[in-house]
Amino acid sequence: MYEYISSKALFERAQQSIPGGVNSPVRAFKSVGGTPVFIEKAKGAYLYDVDGNKYIDYIASWGPMILGHAYEPVIKAIQQKAENSTSFGAPTELEIEIAELIKSMTKNVDLIRMVNSGTEACMSAIRLARGFTGKNKFIKFEGCYHGHADMFLVKAGSGVATFGIQNVPGITRGVADDTLTAPYNDLETVTKLVTEYKNQVAAIIVEPVAGNMGCVLPKEGFLEGLRKICDEENILLIFDEVMTGFRLAKGGAQEKLNIDADLVTYGKVIGAGMPVGAFGGRKEIMQHIAPLGNVYQAGTLSGNPLAMIAGYTLLKELNENSNHFSELEAKTIYLKNGLEKVLSDYEIDFMINQFGSMLSIFFTKISVTDFATASTTNTEFFKQFFHAMLGRGVYLPPSAFESWFLNNALSYEDLDATIIAAKESLETIL
Ligand SMILES: *Cc1c(COP(=O)(O)O)cnc(C)c1O
Repeated sequence: MYEYISSKALFERAQQSIPGGVNSPVRAFKSVGGTPVFIEKAKGAYLYDVDGNKYIDYIASWGPMILGHAYEPVIKAIQQKAENSTSFGAPTELEIEIAELIKSMTKNVDLIRMVNSGTEACMSAIRLARGFTGKNKFIKFEGCYHGHADMFLVKAGSGVATFGIQNVPGITRGVADDTLTAPYNDLETVTKLVTEYKNQVAAIIVEPVAGNMGCVLPKEGFLEGLRKICDEENILLIFDEVMTGFRLAKGGAQEKLNIDADLVTYGKVIGAGMPVGAFGGRKEIMQHIAPLGNVYQAGTLSGNPLAMIAGYTLLKELNENSNHFSELEAKTIYLKNGLEKVLSDYEIDFMINQFGSMLSIFFTKISVTDFATASTTNTEFFKQFFHAMLGRGVYLPPSAFESWFLNNALSYEDLDATIIAAKESLETIL
């Protein structure tokens, strides 16, 4: 088993100057216990910690590292770009190039605005939907996460779910009242809400494949049903593709599932690990954004040259070699089958959800289709499994309510090693 002497020392020190020792809550390992591992560097499919341990990485920085860490072309491009200064606060040709590239890869994006995070993308999309429709409320789904803006922290999945926070202090009643929630995959509740709040709902925002309550798939007809309700009620359908965009396919879930959204938000892969988000849609909607229209949205560092060249370089590779997506899916299915086979040999309930290169094991016997069913997972068992895997060099997301993200630097040997680690882990726990 691994030792974490340096990580422990750093975590102690971190807590003296950073809240909880981390800059984003899930990193603190609170829900799995123990000391967070401090990372020294990463290359390809592997993370290396400050204690000299090596891990097969199933987080990929929560998605962005889809071709593995320190991907040569991205690193080179950033290094070159940095020579010409790190920010201008004035337009550059590169911003046009990435916008044009994204337009060519995705559907229903005539205009796209770059921001600095997925949170910004989602909050801006909601503001735009409100400005465009002249309505105030929006519907989100329990267990879906759209960033940490006030209006989203109502039944918000992952981070919030991981910490068992029900109502987040600091969110005013007024803000929370405009957020309506329905269970994922539940069209009936959506219909009820839309009827009850007739002509008040500006948008429905959804993770087309949910990844923030673990990986949960849309049931057949769910997204189509949302599309229909939105068309009938003059509501904008927002696909939050911060996780799925440029991961499930070039054109994200819109392409993979063949459903058109009115607005789409991006993050994670779009910045190749730099802080980037974006929101886009058809011109008739996007033209309401300032300076074209009067829905204000801005950012001092938006379109930052280092972030843009990183994203552009990665997206270009994904665009030119779309076999990355099929390779990733094949690897994920291989891993799923291997894990399923191993888990079946033990007395433990489990369900594996998988879509494209996203995968989750739920330690439960009922099929997981929404937050309520996801919540039946045995979190105590997950804790033990997580640490057993970590101690065998496999770095899983440190929460039972997060999806694993595969990257295409993973080899089949890595996947086999992961499956063996799972078997050994189960052997020691059970
Ligand atoms: C990660 C995530 C966000 C938030 O993005 P940040 O860059 O962390 O602000 C929003 N929506 C989804 C679906 C996400 O997975």
